[in-house]
Amino acid sequence: MAEPAKKLPNIVISETLCKGCSICVDFCPTNVLELRGNVVAVKNLEACTRCQLCDLRCPDFAIQVF
Ligand code: SF4
Ligand code: SF4
Repeated sequence: MAEPAKKLPNIVISETLCKGCSICVDFCPTNVLELRGNVVAVKNLEACTRCQLCDLRCPDFAIQVF
């Protein structure tokens, strides 16, 4: 039986603010994020629990989770 579609989190990354320090990548408990060049990117949105750790740990306010 099909499960109801679950609403995925919306991870908003500012490519101008992100300096690619990788702090959010390291703190994400479910390995959602990865560095691509000098900017963080989402590699597995389905795994995001909206814990907000990336948002809280980013020193540059470059990532937000809704
Ligand atoms: S909200 Fe939590 S689970 Fe989602 S990307 Fe950020 S640190 Fe990872
Ligand atoms: S912690 Fe912030 S500045 Fe560092 S890689 Fe993540 S989004 Fe970019």
